[in-house]
Amino acid sequence: MKATKIIPIFLPEAGCPQRCLFCSQPLISGQAGKPDPAAVGDTVRRWLEKSPGYEFDLAFYGGTFTALPPSVQEQYLELADSYRRQGMIVGIRLSTRPDCLTDQACELLQHYRVTIVELGVQSLSDQVLSACQRGYTARQAIDGFERLRRRGIKTGIQLMLGLPGDDGRPLADTIEEVCRLGPDYARLYPAIVLAGTGLAGLWRRGGYRPLTLRQAAGLAGISAAVLTGAGVKVMRIGLQAGPGLDDEGSRLAGPYHPALGELAAGDFARRVFVHSFSGHRDFWRASLGKVVEIVGRQQMRGKICGHRNENINFLSRHGFRPVYRHSDNPGVELCCRNRTIDWPYDQFVARCRMGLAGIFAEVMENDTEAEEFCI
Ligand code: SF4
Repeated sequence: MKATKIIPIFLPEAGCPQRCLFCSQPLISGQAGKPDPAAVGDTVRRWLEKSPGYEFDLAFYGGTFTALPPSVQEQYLELADSYRRQGMIVGIRLSTRPDCLTDQACELLQHYRVTIVELGVQSLSDQVLSACQRGYTARQAIDGFERLRRRGIKTGIQLMLGLPGDDGRPLADTIEEVCRLGPDYARLYPAIVLAGTGLAGLWRRGGYRPLTLRQAAGLAGISAAVLTGAGVKVMRIGLQAGPGLDDEGSRLAGPYHPALGELAAGDFARRVFVHSFSGHRDFWRASLGKVVEIVGRQQMRGKICGHRNENINFLSRHGFRPVYRHSDNPGVELCCRNRTIDWPYDQFVARCRMGLAGIFAEVMENDTEAEEFCI
């Protein structure tokens, strides 16, 4: 089976009823206006040429697709459908707001066999939605999601972390609710203060404090692990680097990092280390100065050792001599002094889900790496 790549066509803020507090699609996409059909065709052909051996979904991102005039929606969908009939693409995706899914809009999506709709939900807390002037409630967002699901259309949910009014508890409730809803996938975006947005004004007036990079990695890593544990695939963490965002003047504040997903995975792995060590404290105390082998598959290395080996350095700072050893066996083990200890990943994910609000509160308050394990 061929892997699928997404060909993104950005329609910056097209159809949006208003510009949301934190949003600047021209900066995020690096593009000012929506492309005409000929430009869409050129983009599709370029992708096909540069990535032979893949299947492709064509995706209309960056706006509120289902709030565009129906004739414009049909124009784009007809175009995408023609590429599908020619075998150039296999699926059609688009993004929209969850409150812009009338029955009529859903019928059009069904008519053109849209494969996946990404909902810019951002939060399922009424308090946070109101602080961000989103113009809908959590109930409306869930109704939009369920309307798609009843029609058999797959869904992705976009969530934002560190929004105004979110001290961690609203995020915990949101993650819990998304686990219950069970979309096909989620994307997690820590809020960034972008130039020219309402959030920039709020931040300048002292009414908003963005997450630090460490807080963002902590919240995103835990959220991703809990969602994945509940069967919700996490497709992306953090905004995609691009010409608009790479320009320093466009990002005023906030936890932007081109490898935020790696930082988040590494942060979570560090928490699993701490959890493991606190469960075998006497053993680890007696193992200071000894070699600790972390044994796992090659593809797990980056996630466990962390971005730029952060977790190896972390263990070294705490007096161990860590090394990563590749193995073809499933799972991960910690080996030290002829003893093998299973990597308690699932156990720790379950613990996080049980006390998500408390763990998020710790991340928000401490702003330190998960380092407080006293051997
Ligand atoms: S957040 Fe979504 S709905 Fe709001 S302006 Fe941006 S693209 Fe439009």
